[in-house]
Amino acid sequence: MSSDVLRFSMRLLEQEGAAVEDGSGYVDALLPLELARQLGWNEEVRLVEDPSGERSGMKSVAYGTAGLEQLLDLVRLRGSVICLRAGLPTPALRDLVADARNGLRFRMKGPVAFGATTRSMASYLVVHYWLAAASEESHEGLIRVAVNESTLAPLQGLHAALEGLRDALHPGGVQGGAGSRPLPDVLQAASREARRLALRHLEPFMTTLERRRRRDGNRLHSYFESMLAETAARRGPGRASRRVSIEDRQNAVRAEYERKIRDLSLRYGLRVRLRPAALMRVTIPVLQAVCCLRWKTVSRAFPVTWNPILHEIEPLVCDACGCASREVVVDEDLRLTCAGCPGDPAARDPG
Ligand SMILES: [Zn+2]
Repeated sequence: MSSDVLRFSMRLLEQEGAAVEDGSGYVDALLPLELARQLGWNEEVRLVEDPSGERSGMKSVAYGTAGLEQLLDLVRLRGSVICLRAGLPTPALRDLVADARNGLRFRMKGPVAFGATTRSMASYLVVHYWLAAASEESHEGLIRVAVNESTLAPLQGLHAALEGLRDALHPGGVQGGAGSRPLPDVLQAASREARRLALRHLEPFMTTLERRRRRDGNRLHSYFESMLAETAARRGPGRASRRVSIEDRQNAVRAEYERKIRDLSLRYGLRVRLRPAALMRVTIPVLQAVCCLRWKTVSRAFPVTWNPILHEIEPLVCDACGCASREVVVDEDLRLTCAGCPGDPAARDPG
């Protein structure tokens, strides 16, 4: 099985019309002439991950290599969404009321009602983000997000499940399924989810950084403590003017310590960049039912979706933070909020 980055590159080239073969540890590709020209690569190329293994007719697509950058640029320049249609059988009708009552929980005073189950087509946008985190060390990786374009629910596991269905995915599909929201809204939902996943992905990296920062801080502290002690030891009886000069020196040592600590915080500050690298829209047949919430004179209706690939009812979306949640608190205006909601990430983090 090839690595994430090799499979990602293989998928990109395939979408651009190349014939590819996964050689386990490498990928052989036959590029259309035009694509080979655009990339400046041979038509017949073997993709490898190890940059030192690059020879004539081979391209390394490891993180940070020119090869991967060229591929990403190609996709960015195209800027279009690749539309695929999953050739799956129409799911058998089932009563979604029981699924919704078991799989979703609304904490509210008013009634929750579900309409009849209908067959529908739903579109999902799959976005690959290239994650680059820089601090004293740097870290790169891929973050994949799939969002239901109609409900804007981010769906964990859908991307992986789609990978397993590769043979059933065909070019085509509609430009957005029934009730799809405008692309910018979908992208915003995807990038909110990507930020959440990126933070989770970066946790071990941030733990290591924090450990190093603390170690460097402790070293600085002991170094400056001993400097201070040394200066104090040289104090002793003397004229007032000499004592003043020792105090000056100690103050200078303290100021230098504070400056070094500030430098340390700057050095260990974390800069995270997420760049969307590839957009793929997959349209699949689903089951839907309208969910209707009511409280006094207010009512709100939205679709709930049964996903035949995940074999489950899809989660709800928190109106505040946009995360997927199977249990929501519903307020008197019928806004849905996830339990322990951190609030809108965009309001705290404009990046
Ligand atoms: Zn929330």
